[in-house]
Amino acid sequence: MSSISIDASTLQINSFGLQNLMNFIFVHERTLKEFGAIKIQLSSDCALALKKRQISLTCASIQQITKVSDDEPIYFVQKRDDANVYTGQRSPIKNEETFWCSLSNLGQKFSTSGVSLLPNKSFFYEKQHGKYFSIHRIPRKSLLRLSGTKITNQFVSSLTRAHGPGAIFPLSSVQQRLFLLVYHHQGGPRHWYIIPACERETLQKILQRQNSTYCLEHGELMINPVVFDKYHIRYHRIIQYPNEFVILSAGALSQSFTLDASWSESIPFALPSWIEEGHATARNLACQCNINFPLSKTIDVSVFRHELIQKYIDTHLNIVKDGKTSITQ
Ligand SMILES: [Zn+2]
Repeated sequence: MSSISIDASTLQINSFGLQNLMNFIFVHERTLKEFGAIKIQLSSDCALALKKRQISLTCASIQQITKVSDDEPIYFVQKRDDANVYTGQRSPIKNEETFWCSLSNLGQKFSTSGVSLLPNKSFFYEKQHGKYFSIHRIPRKSLLRLSGTKITNQFVSSLTRAHGPGAIFPLSSVQQRLFLLVYHHQGGPRHWYIIPACERETLQKILQRQNSTYCLEHGELMINPVVFDKYHIRYHRIIQYPNEFVILSAGALSQSFTLDASWSESIPFALPSWIEEGHATARNLACQCNINFPLSKTIDVSVFRHELIQKYIDTHLNIVKDGKTSITQ
C-alpha cells in the first residue's frame, strides 16, 4: 500500500476558530481519526495569552539508547539524570535521515541529549481576557467538563524541554487514551510519527513476535519507520514548528525527536468519540508498567451518560458564526 506513510493533514485556524477550538477539532474529527493526528497553523489574527519566558533549568537530563533487537532497528530509551555518562555530541542531526543514521551507526548502547518534563508549569497565563487563547481552558471546554470541576482541575498542562539535537520523545499514548494538544513554543522543529489507534494491535503483535516485553504506551521505545513499512503498519509524519499545534486523536500512539533544543507544552482533553468509541475504557493487557499518573485516579466514565454527551454536543460543538458561517470558513 503506497499510502502507508503519507503526511498527516495540516489545517489553518483563525481567531474565531481558535476561540472555539473544541468545535474546530470536532468538525475535523474524521481527518484527525484517520491520521491519528493533525497539525494546526495559526493565522496572524490569533492572539495567545503567553508569558515572557522565564524558566531556568539547572540540570540537563540525558537519554540512554539501547538497541533491543539484532534484526530490527528498534531502540529502548531510558532517561538518565547523571549527565556524567553523556558520551558527547554525535554527528549533527540535520534531518530525519541523519537522525536515524546516527542511531544505527553507533554501538549497542549510547546516550543523547534528553527531555525534561515539567508538570504543572506553563508559558500560558491562567486568566486573561477570553479573546486570548490559553491552554488552561481546554479541559473544561472539552467533554471532560461533564466530570465536574474537581476532575477538570486535575488536568494541568505540562511543559517539556528538549535539551538538544536528537532528543527523543519515545513511543507513547496519552493517559486513559485521551486526546492531546501540543503547542510548540520555541526552538528546533519536532519530527513526529503517528500511529492511528486502529494500527495498535498489529504493532503489538509484531513486538510480541520479537519476544519484546517493552510497552507501546509508556515511553520506552523508539522505532525506525522502516519497521512500520516492513510490516505494513500505517503511520503518518508531521513536522511541527514554533507556534503550531499538533492534536493527537484518542488512542493514537506517537513518537518524535527534535532537531534542536526546544520548548513545548501539552494538555489532554476529550471529545464525545473518546467515550463513544470505547477509548476511555480500553485496556492494554500487555502493559506491565507501574505508572503513577499525575491524576489521583482514572476518570470515572459512568458520568458520561448518553443524554449529557448529546447536550454537550448541542451546546458546545455546534457553534456557527453570525448564525450562518461555519467554523471552518
Ligand atoms: Zn506500559
